[in-house]
Amino acid sequence: MYQLINGKEVSEKVLEQIRQEVIQLKQAGKKTPHLAAVLVGDNPASMAYVNSKIKTCEKVGVTSTLVKFETDVTEQKLLSKIEELNNDTDVDGYIVQLPLPKHIAEQKIIEAIAPSKDVDGFHPINVGKLVLNLPTYISATPYGIIQLLEYYKIPTQGKHCVVIGRSNIVGTPMSILMAKNTQYANCTVTLCHSKTENLKQYTLAADIVIAAIGKPNYVTADMVKQGATVIDVGINRIPSTETKSGFKLVGDVLFDEVAPMCSYITPVPGGVGLMTIASLLKNTLLAAKKEIYK
Ligand code: NDP
Repeated sequence: MYQLINGKEVSEKVLEQIRQEVIQLKQAGKKTPHLAAVLVGDNPASMAYVNSKIKTCEKVGVTSTLVKFETDVTEQKLLSKIEELNNDTDVDGYIVQLPLPKHIAEQKIIEAIAPSKDVDGFHPINVGKLVLNLPTYISATPYGIIQLLEYYKIPTQGKHCVVIGRSNIVGTPMSILMAKNTQYANCTVTLCHSKTENLKQYTLAADIVIAAIGKPNYVTADMVKQGATVIDVGINRIPSTETKSGFKLVGDVLFDEVAPMCSYITPVPGGVGLMTIASLLKNTLLAAKKEIYK
């Protein structure tokens, strides 16, 4: 029988800890931590993510500001806002919700964010620090996954971890974290992607599979070893007759088929996604306490 990794339960514990720390900061006469979020356009998924982030701020007593731009905002205007946020002493950290419209150079925007306020951990300086094992903001999704492994005390030392997907925000930082010489890592890591030949040969040899592909139900039971841990990062909207909206969310893993093979597995929704938001708030608290950048 598999153990379901309950992202709701773990994220609520993390958020409660943050809420307590925010109270303590205020009691000590310090300012309330403040997270800003920049949202460009009306992509429904981006709007939903940003709204959840803002709502979670309210839940833990963190101040939030939502900065919205129309899809056709110029790169220059966005860069000016970023400069303003960099200089705003009340804002401890901020995120620019990705993806951005095609006419805006995403990397240029990321590099304009002050590393000390880059609570998403996407700036090259913060990514570099992650690689070098220096204190930094770990990007929220991989950070959330590490906390899940830790909470459930899932054995990782010496295990073979296969990460599927090599994006800058999930797969690549995840593979780096899992290979680190730390208690909830120390894995031998294989990083797979769309050009990997015979993906199944790798996943079948994996003790831990982390799927960050963006393809609904892609990982099937014949790809997973008996007793493996499966972490499903995917959030895919697929048509459904079961819901009023006509859509439902599924992961990159065909849950019903794969779960019986596993020792641990994350559901979608209710798994990694909730931890991503909690980890963003954790980074915001680190920014407010100036623990990474003094
Ligand atoms: P990207 O599209 O940036 O990256 C997808 C990765 O998957 C790429 O590296 C790609 O390879 C690889 N890939 C695509 N097809 C295959 C295949 N057939 N076999 C093996 N590898 C493949 O996506 P993200 O990393 O941003 O997101 C991945 C998923 O996670 C999405 O569903 C997204 O919605 C979700 N997500 C969830 C979050 C959460 O909080 N739970 C947070 C962020 C994302 P290549 O590099 O060769 O193109």
